[in-house]
Amino acid sequence: MTTTHDASVTLEKASRGATAAKKVPITVAYGDGIGPEIMDATLRIIQAAGAALEIERIEIGEPIYEKGLDSGIEPSSWDTLRRTKVFLKAPITTPQGGGFKSLNVTVRKTLGMYANVRPCASLYPFVATKHPNMDLVIVRENEEDVYGGIEHRQTNQVTQCLKLISRPGSERIVRYAFEYARANKRKKVTCFTKDNIMKITDGLFHRIFDEIAKEYPDLEHEHWIVDIGAAKMADTPEAFDVIVMPNLYGDVLSDVAAQITGSVGLAGSANIGDNCSMFEAIHGSAPRRAGQNLANPSGLLQGAIMMLVHIGQGKVAELVHNAWLTTIEEGIHTYDIFKEGVSKQKVGTKEFADAVIARVGQKPKVLKPIEYQAESHMDLSIRPDGKPPVKQRVGVDIFIDKRDGNPDDIAGKLLPLGGDGVKLTVIANRGTKVWPNGNPDTFCSDQWSCRFEKTGGNFSAAQMGDLIKACEGAGFDVIKTEGLFTFDGERGYSLAQGQ
Ligand code: NAD
Repeated sequence: MTTTHDASVTLEKASRGATAAKKVPITVAYGDGIGPEIMDATLRIIQAAGAALEIERIEIGEPIYEKGLDSGIEPSSWDTLRRTKVFLKAPITTPQGGGFKSLNVTVRKTLGMYANVRPCASLYPFVATKHPNMDLVIVRENEEDVYGGIEHRQTNQVTQCLKLISRPGSERIVRYAFEYARANKRKKVTCFTKDNIMKITDGLFHRIFDEIAKEYPDLEHEHWIVDIGAAKMADTPEAFDVIVMPNLYGDVLSDVAAQITGSVGLAGSANIGDNCSMFEAIHGSAPRRAGQNLANPSGLLQGAIMMLVHIGQGKVAELVHNAWLTTIEEGIHTYDIFKEGVSKQKVGTKEFADAVIARVGQKPKVLKPIEYQAESHMDLSIRPDGKPPVKQRVGVDIFIDKRDGNPDDIAGKLLPLGGDGVKLTVIANRGTKVWPNGNPDTFCSDQWSCRFEKTGGNFSAAQMGDLIKACEGAGFDVIKTEGLFTFDGERGYSLAQGQ
């Protein structure tokens, strides 16, 4: 068994190593609520293990909101973040009431952090869970999908939110997932989408996953439809290793995955961009626990471990991670995971940090020790685009607002507006075909999508403009148009349900 003396020798060595290593500048925000306590504990642990850091501190959250800045961050802090490129962030309190922007979303989007990485591993038998062998990582696309927040109220009855999935956005996140899996000696990458329904958007994500998977023959790959995949993950998480998914599914399922390890309080997350990255705990600022030396610093420590790997201090990350696992398996627990019969000693934030520091250099005996590469090698370079396909406009969907409309009456007024090869081909209501040959049982809202297509393609922008004017001339309230395109002859738009 390693003694405390052995640990301090290792610590001394590690610290000497750190002195020799070049210090890496990072930005640190202590946050609100329990933030300052858990940040203090986290920094003490990683520095004791030899992290070579040059810390620049910024203020975010409550004090900045109170100054009247709705973004929760001062303009000068952006310069610090852009300069250091690495952000270790404690949780902040989001003020109640409207007007305030989510600081997390602002930072992620402003600094282009496209990948959200959340490892979820159980610590059984030291933390109770139904899934003792769970050890998976969720890689969530962080910028696209419905998170553009592009929403419109189009009619009295109908609202819309646009889901955007791009080729470069999907390529970057899928490649990140495969590179992460390879760098972390994982065996399999799974993709979750709903491409049986969203054949164009989720279909693109899935197709890119299949394309990129071919470059990684050393890794298994598979695709699940997200609903049954989520059910399987909640029931048998040990069947998965790395799971990559678009933003919304990833947002929901990364919380589910963290929760079923036994405690959301133990998970950390990384937000990775080409230039800047942010590391944090997944929990909030727990204001009721603040200032009492009660909070568990483990979630933020997990974020800090990912940061160390990211900045090429993988061996320090390994020392910290193994010391933390050793502390957990020796039953030294904060109140949130303390359990009579399993835990040995209930400690506060500071004492927990001291216990981890005392175990730097030790490896866990029951839990699996962690190994990290000294430096992380991930090839995330963007591959050149192929030759762009030939794009041709072949028609237009014209959306109109008509309360208590009747599909046959609407078609009767729109049919004469075609000409020169352009004709009305289908009318849909909320995506379901209602003309021609609609079903009287289909419920119709006040938003109608009227599709005009040109035989042989080449539907010009001028023809589209004339058609919109003609629709308005026929008494219709045009609320939006959507061009219909083919790409190298392949249809780039969905058919209405039942078409
Ligand atoms: P929370 O995660 O702060 O707390 C939920 C529960 O978990 C509480 O009972 C708390 O006591 C406990 N808990 C959380 N972290 C803990 C820790 N490290 N140790 C021990 N117990 C812990 O969620 P909430 O109460 O819904 O949110 C509080 C504030 O945090 C809100 O203002 C919210 O907007 C904000 N928040 C911030 C972030 C972030 O900055 N990344 C994330 C989530 C929530």
